[in-house]
Amino acid sequence: MTRPNMRPGLLAFAFMVLFSAATAAFGHPPSSGTLHDWGEQVDYDMVFPVQGDNTYSPGFWASRGEYVHHATDIMASKMTPVVAVADGVIYSVNWSTNPNDLRPHKCCNLIIDHDDGWQTKYYHLNNDTPGTDDGQGWGIAPGILPGTHVSAGQVIGWVGDSTNAENTSPHLHFELVDPEGTIVDAYLALKAAEGNRVASSACAPLSPSSATELLGGTRLLKVGARGTDVRQLQQALASGGYDPGGVDGVFGPKTAAAVKAFQAARGITADGIVGSESRRVLSNLLETSQYATALSPSGPILRPGDRGSAVREIQAVLEAAGFDPGPVDGVYGPKTVAAVKAYQQQAGIGVDGKVGPVTRRSLASSLGVTGSGC
Ligand SMILES: [Zn+2]
Repeated sequence: MTRPNMRPGLLAFAFMVLFSAATAAFGHPPSSGTLHDWGEQVDYDMVFPVQGDNTYSPGFWASRGEYVHHATDIMASKMTPVVAVADGVIYSVNWSTNPNDLRPHKCCNLIIDHDDGWQTKYYHLNNDTPGTDDGQGWGIAPGILPGTHVSAGQVIGWVGDSTNAENTSPHLHFELVDPEGTIVDAYLALKAAEGNRVASSACAPLSPSSATELLGGTRLLKVGARGTDVRQLQQALASGGYDPGGVDGVFGPKTAAAVKAFQAARGITADGIVGSESRRVLSNLLETSQYATALSPSGPILRPGDRGSAVREIQAVLEAAGFDPGPVDGVYGPKTVAAVKAYQQQAGIGVDGKVGPVTRRSLASSLGVTGSGC
């Protein structure tokens, strides 16, 4: 073998070493496209992804030991709502694109393919039971599965410290990818999005059974109160589109203002104090999250005389929406018909006393039920 024959091999080897080094240094081959360079600052129009108090700083080029961070970390309290920054389809949940295999052991993160070709990644979503660090929670909003279409501002999950962030402060690791697959620096786009927060019609973050401190408690919650029950109250308010000024378990003036707004909207005494009456109405708010399936537009058309669990669920939804369907008994009787008609009249949709796709979509929208137009 002659030396000239050796050289191409050596060169190839040298390139491999260089390429591997670059891959290791960036955690990703830093592929620049025709639209943007890898890590370029962009002016991408979007909704701010964290709904609540937060802090962040330029973090794309921060070193993470072997690689460059290539993301922005938005620090916020656990269970602060995270919303889709743009309209799109959930590409993966916990790195799975299969809605029947959500890999709970990889909980919790998701990726959205935007309708405009861009992509965003949301990592370290909550994986704890609220108030604990037990790793037993599920910080992805109900109904959010691979293939689900989401709207800008829709709640998709809650801030946490999952996967390799267990030993850090809770935050959202947020990545922005352009239509060519080039990861860009989202910092300026986030800055531009600030003040552009959508008051999400929002989606219940808690099932009533996991809000026992709030719903089962007897103390009056008012300015100055602290605790798990206050945190759950704030989560419930945030999910209902009322800004409690953070989900920190401290009942401050912003939480009081949110309680008053919620009370006024639900037609109860707007005193900013949570007692038994507010607890009952909050329970209804949380109940609605249980009815995402019932409010799916593809559900069966329900008519007077029908019976069964679908009717029962619609009755509970009507009650939560402030209408009286009579007993929640699964029987589509005259009072339920009257409640449906009253709702349809108020909502400005066709008044026929039946529950079909239009009525479901409308109810889902007005109640902010996840997966049904929230
Ligand atoms: Zn990060």
